[in-house]
Amino acid sequence: MIDLGTKPETKITIVTPVIDLKKSDIVIRGKELKAPFELTWSCYKNEDIACGICDSCALRLRAFRIAGMEDPIPYLIRPKYN
Ligand SMILES: [Zn+2]
Repeated sequence: MIDLGTKPETKITIVTPVIDLKKSDIVIRGKELKAPFELTWSCYKNEDIACGICDSCALRLRAFRIAGMEDPIPYLIRPKYN
């Protein structure tokens, strides 16, 4: 599809290194690589402070919980169980 939508000389490769990983495994791998989680964003609803209740926040918080880590970003609401 990229080749159809770009000039012949344009070479774009899509790399998806975490596409086959579970979210909790991504968190664990990120910890190993010292990823700056405080600079990452997942919330679908807000842009200033993560809501903590949208599907994306719920999945993110669950992944950190499974990975045994505290998510470093602030949340408007941080449900006890998600
Ligand atoms: Zn959210």
